[in-house]
Amino acid sequence: GPAPEDASDARAWIEARGGIAGHFIGGTWDAMRADFDTTNPATGERLAGVTKGTEAEVEKAVTAARKAQTKWAKNGKTRARVLYAIARLMQKNARLLAVMETLDTGKPIREARDIDVPLAIRHFYHHAGFAQLMDDEMPDVEPLGVCGQIIPWNFPLLMLAWKIAPALAMGNTVVLKPAEYTPMTAMIFAEICTQAGVPPGVVNIVTGDGETGAALVNANVDKIAFTGSTAVGRLIREQTAGTGKALSLELGGKSPYIVFEDADIDSAVEGLVDAIWFNGGQVCCAGSRLLVQEGIAETFYAKLKAHMDALRMGDPLDKCIDVGAIVDPSQLDRISSMVAQNTAGDTYQCGAPDGCFYPPTLITGLAPSDTLMQEEIFGPVLVATTFRTPAEAVEVANNTRYGLAASVWSENINLALDIAPKLVSGIVWINGTNMMDAAAGFGGVRESGFGREGGWEGLQGYTKPRGKPTPLKTPVT
Ligand code: NAD
Repeated sequence: GPAPEDASDARAWIEARGGIAGHFIGGTWDAMRADFDTTNPATGERLAGVTKGTEAEVEKAVTAARKAQTKWAKNGKTRARVLYAIARLMQKNARLLAVMETLDTGKPIREARDIDVPLAIRHFYHHAGFAQLMDDEMPDVEPLGVCGQIIPWNFPLLMLAWKIAPALAMGNTVVLKPAEYTPMTAMIFAEICTQAGVPPGVVNIVTGDGETGAALVNANVDKIAFTGSTAVGRLIREQTAGTGKALSLELGGKSPYIVFEDADIDSAVEGLVDAIWFNGGQVCCAGSRLLVQEGIAETFYAKLKAHMDALRMGDPLDKCIDVGAIVDPSQLDRISSMVAQNTAGDTYQCGAPDGCFYPPTLITGLAPSDTLMQEEIFGPVLVATTFRTPAEAVEVANNTRYGLAASVWSENINLALDIAPKLVSGIVWINGTNMMDAAAGFGGVRESGFGREGGWEGLQGYTKPRGKPTPLKTPVT
């Protein structure tokens, strides 16, 4: 096959900046310390030292964002120009961004190159258009102010784009905290901001861990936008209760993938590769719970296993690889122990765990109430059960505390359209999976969170009704 992608320029990029990921505050690098490391999970190599943001550093970033906000909110056309420039510079640096993402996360370069980076760029183009329209077309709304944004490690650049693009378009300024395992593409992004003419203080990045995140939640911000685990989402909701801060939460999921006996079986099998082995299953909306109609179950599992055998796991820089590394050994341990502790069902695994790699895994014969059918694994592990009737499919699909996404496979469009609205889920795909676009709102219900990112709803999450104080006729005494 072709030679692995060359990562020497990404490594040189880090080297040239002192081997440290740290804070970008008020348009300059600030506090660059190696408090902990970020590593390449595929090899264990240390990529860079990472600064753990303190409360004072978070405050400094929020103050810089506050100072820049009024002016930034003034002119939507200026914002559009800057957002278009960011998108173009991301395109120009697309290869560097993709390689850096692969080094930091362990995801296949094919995915970083063809999915993460293009979707992130598209998010800036899309929102640049809305920035341009805002002054004329949205006269009744104004920005929230300063937004604190906290993102996970599974799509570092794409989640950054989902947070920063709409916030900036609507005239907010931001302080964003990348996940502790994956700060590197945010560093490249900070430099892109400078080149694109983002005014100092409009985009601030503070690196660190959960403590840094908690400090940001407590800081003087007008909104917290969080993507991550349901447990931390719950903490943040408690922490912000009664503060008047706006909040959006994009949390976990255990999304059902429902295959009816009249489905195009080959397409449904192929779709599962996208649903659960894309990014090693470290996807919030992964189709991680397979529900197959009884009559086709054996045929379906046989075809699926044959497909799994053909998946290639290995060096994420290899352009032919389907399954890369798990982001961090601690996440691999979590996946391994969940699977090892729950022995119900029949396990089919393509190979064995090796280093920070976990093989594609299928566990069939589970009951809907089994732990592995209920708990999010956040790894390349598909769990499966069968159903008899459409009504039972709906019942099993909704038997979860989550509600992020769902996928329905049937050649009978009437059946699919009947089932879709009965699923308690933020998103339903029919004969498809994991499709997302900047123009479509994304988000969950139940313990998958609330608020939408992308689309019209996503923009609304970064505005409030314009304050038009009406003078009182009789002064209040
Ligand atoms: P996590 O909740 O541990 O961490 C997410 C982010 O929150 C990180 O930046 C982390 O540093 C920060 N954080 C941790 N503790 C915090 C605290 N007390 N206060 C403030 N910030 C804190 O989650 P993770 O392990 O990074 O990501 C995996 C989880 O995220 C999975 O459950 C997955 O389903 C979910 N996720 C959801 C979506 C979505 O859009 N719904 C997208 C990606 C990931």
